[in-house]
Amino acid sequence: MTMIFRENKICFVCKKESSHPVIASTHAFGSPDLDTRPPEGQRSTMHCWLQICPHCGYAASDISKETPVTKAFIESRIYQECDGNLFFDPLAQNFFRQFLLAKKGENDKTAFFALLHAAWACDDNQETYGAIRCRRLAVAQLEKWLALPDRDVDDETLLLIKADLLRRSYDFVTVVSEFETMTMKNEFHQKMIDFQVALAKKEDAGRYTIDQITGR
Ligand SMILES: [Zn+2]
Repeated sequence: MTMIFRENKICFVCKKESSHPVIASTHAFGSPDLDTRPPEGQRSTMHCWLQICPHCGYAASDISKETPVTKAFIESRIYQECDGNLFFDPLAQNFFRQFLLAKKGENDKTAFFALLHAAWACDDNQETYGAIRCRRLAVAQLEKWLALPDRDVDDETLLLIKADLLRRSYDFVTVVSEFETMTMKNEFHQKMIDFQVALAKKEDAGRYTIDQITGR
């Protein structure tokens, strides 16, 4: 069962106080998606993953924490209008704003996850074009992250996510050309990549879970 409480935070940018939902406990029942999206109930807690200051619009996982981004950037049209990307879903909008902040602050990992989460929010709101746009930008961000010398996630895991992002944004040609002959050290990772390539060859951009590979 998911338990949520509220907590007051002082925004680092405007120094004003506001109340935000915080997850006290949750559960995950079932299998995650191939792009690591968790099953229910964690799946339905995305509205708690990001805090939005109602006074200035600063979006972060914790708005009380320091950011190198200025108030002027948060007030800019680029930030307020999601750099010309129109989303109907406010959650997708706010994850995209978190991406813009992370990109400005040169935090490639946070920028990548913000885009992935924006794509999930678009999926839930049937915003196909927005989901494709976020996934394509996420691929570019993932490549930047892969180029960093210090990473806390191994290359194979990131490449598996990249394959899913490409396929779910209808770039089947790149999935096949980049991954068909790629060899993974981990046996299960190899199964996952073979699964992705087979789906891409069928031009299938659908959502699949890990269980669908293991046949459980
Ligand atoms: Zn604020």
